[in-house]
Amino acid sequence: MKIDVLTLFPEMVKTALSESIVGRAVNSGHIDLGFYQIRDYSENKQNKVDDTPYGGGPGMLMTCQPLASCCRAATENAAAKGFGKPYTVLMSPRGTKLDAKTAKRLAGNPYMIVVCGHYEGIDQRFIDAFCDEEISIGDYVLTGGELPAAVLIDTVSRFVPGVLGSPESGGDESFEKLLLEYPQYTKPATFEGADVPEVLTGGNHADIEAWRLKEAEKITKERRPDLYEQYEESAFCEKRVIYFDNSATTRQTPRVTAVVAETARKFYGNPSSLTRLGMLAEKELTAARGVIAGTVGADRNEITFTASGTEANNLAIKGYLAANKHSGSKVIVSAVEHPSVLETAKSLESLGYKVELCPVDGRGVIDIKALFEMIDSDTALISVMTVNSETGAIMPIKEIAAVKNSINPKIILHTDCVQGYGKLKIDVKDLGCDMLTASAHKIHGPRGAGFLYARRGIRLAPVTHGGGQESGLRSGTENLPAIRGFAAAAEDAFKDIGESYENVKRARNLFRELLLEKYGDKIHINSDPDATLPYIFNVSFSPIRAEVLLHALESENMFVSVGSACSSKKKNRSHVLTAMNVPVKIIDGSVRFSFSRFTTEEEIRKGAEVLFKAVKELKRAVRG
Ligand code: SAM
Repeated sequence: MKIDVLTLFPEMVKTALSESIVGRAVNSGHIDLGFYQIRDYSENKQNKVDDTPYGGGPGMLMTCQPLASCCRAATENAAAKGFGKPYTVLMSPRGTKLDAKTAKRLAGNPYMIVVCGHYEGIDQRFIDAFCDEEISIGDYVLTGGELPAAVLIDTVSRFVPGVLGSPESGGDESFEKLLLEYPQYTKPATFEGADVPEVLTGGNHADIEAWRLKEAEKITKERRPDLYEQYEESAFCEKRVIYFDNSATTRQTPRVTAVVAETARKFYGNPSSLTRLGMLAEKELTAARGVIAGTVGADRNEITFTASGTEANNLAIKGYLAANKHSGSKVIVSAVEHPSVLETAKSLESLGYKVELCPVDGRGVIDIKALFEMIDSDTALISVMTVNSETGAIMPIKEIAAVKNSINPKIILHTDCVQGYGKLKIDVKDLGCDMLTASAHKIHGPRGAGFLYARRGIRLAPVTHGGGQESGLRSGTENLPAIRGFAAAAEDAFKDIGESYENVKRARNLFRELLLEKYGDKIHINSDPDATLPYIFNVSFSPIRAEVLLHALESENMFVSVGSACSSKKKNRSHVLTAMNVPVKIIDGSVRFSFSRFTTEEEIRKGAEVLFKAVKELKRAVRG
C-alpha cells in the first residue's frame, strides 16, 4: 500500500512511524510511505501557507493553493510509479471517529493521501475538491494533524497484508471480534504475591480458550456495553439468540429506534395544537402518513393510524357496520383469522349480525367455492387475512374480490394484512380490497402503531370517541414517535422487498431441507412451500409436545412460537390447524418458526443444530 502524508511538519510523522512494526513494514516494502512538505508548494513570495478567515474569528487557516499543488504533485509522482487515483483523507476533529472497521476499510485502498491540518484548520474549498473523507481520532482537539495521521497510518498498516507477519496475528485483538481483549500474563508465575490464573498454566487448550472468552466478554460488558450489545447480535457470540419468532414480533432496527427517539426529542408538540410546535409535529405526521400510503398505493387521506393491527381490525369491522346499518346483516370471515378479526366478528352476534366462518383447504388456503356459496344478498362484509399468522398460507384476496364483485360489488372486502405487509408488494387497487390493516412491530418497527386503509368513499363510525383526531375516526393524541418509526420501518422493508423475499425464501428452503434430510416423513410440515409466505414455517414434531420443545429450545437461546403469539398462552388448540383438519396429535406437536429479512444462513444452520439436539433429547425422554 502507498501512503503519502501532506504536512507542515514531516519529521513529526516520520519519527513516529520509523521504528517497530510500521518501520519494518516500510523497510520490507509492504508500505510505501512518502512525505510532502506543503510549504514547498506555496507560490507566495514568503512561502506563506495560511491566512485570516473570512468573516473574522481567531487564528489562521491553511490556504487552498499550496495544499492543492502539493496534492497534485504527490498524485503525479505516484502515477509515475503506477498508482491510480488516491483516496484522500483529511485528519480533522470533525471527521468520522476512527475505529477498527474504518481502518480495515482504508487498508483496502492501494494508494492513500493523508492531509494534516494546522492552525484553525483548512479552507473548505480544498476539502470539497480534494478530500474523500475526514477522519478524527477522538473527541478532543490536537494542535495539528501530524499525531492523528501517525495514529491513523499505524492502525491502517496492521490491516495491510504482510505487515503483522502471520495472517492470524491480531485475530484476538480488542475489537476484532467485537470484544475487548482478555487479561494477559507472562513470566514469572508469581509476582509480588500475585499469581497467574491457574487455568493458564494447566496446559489444557480448550479450558484456556473458554476462560479467555469468558474474561473478554466480562470486560467488554463492564467497560463497553455499547460494543457488547453489537457482539451479542453478531456471529461471534456463541450464546447469540436465534430468533425464529418474527411473526410474533420483530427486533426494532437501530434506525427505527433513532427515529423514535428523535421524534420524542424534537417533535414533542401535539399535532392538534395551533402553535408552531404543533404544526411541526403535524407536518411530520402528514409526511409519515404519505410514506405509509405510498407503500400500498393509497392516498394519504385513506390512511388512519391506530395503536395496533388489532385496533385497526376492530375499526374496520365494527366501524363499517355501525356506519352502514342497512348494508346487510351477514358477515363472512375465514375460519383461520387472527382473534382480532374472529372475536370482533363474534361480538357482532349480540347485535343481531349473522357471522359465518368460511372453511380452508388442507393447505390452510380459503375455499373459494365455499365462499362463493356463502355470499348472499344479505352479506355486508367479508374479512379474509392476506397471510395466515400460523402457517403463512397466502390467501387469494384478488380472486375473493372478483368473486364477491361478481355477486354484489357493494359488499365490502377487508383484509388483515398484518403478516403480509412489508413482505409482499401490495397495491390496494390491484388487490381489490376496500380496507386493509397492518402493524409496525411485525416489520422491525415499534409497538404501538398500526394503520387502517379504507378506500375513499367508505363510511366508518369511530370506535373510540373524544377529540376527533384521525378525521374523527380515532380520537386520542397521535403516537407520533411510533408513527414516524413505523414510516421508517416501512421505508426500509419496502426498499428491497423483492430481494428480501428471495433471501427469506432461501433461508426457509434451507431450513426445510435440513429438517427433511434429518427426519424425512417422521415430521409433519403444516406449511406447504407452494402456498405459503416463506417468512412462516409450521412443522409438527409429534409425539413431542410443542410447548415442551419450545421451552427446550428457549433454554438454548432459540425462540419460536406455538400457534400465534396472541393465542399461545391460552390453553385452546390451534383453531387454524384444526380448520385445516390436521389431526389433534399433530397439532399438539406443531411449532411455528418465523423468519425475517435479517435471518441469515448461518442462523438457520445453527438453529437446525439446536433443534436437532433438543428433539433428540426429548425423544429419548418420550421413549424413556
Ligand atoms: N478549529 C478546528 C476545530 O475546532 O475543529 C481545530 C483545528 S486543530 C487546532 C488543527 C488541526 O489538527 C486540524 O485541522 C486537524 O488536522 C488536526 N486535529 C486536531 N484534532 C484532531 C482530532 N481529534 N482528530 C484528527 N485530527 C485532529
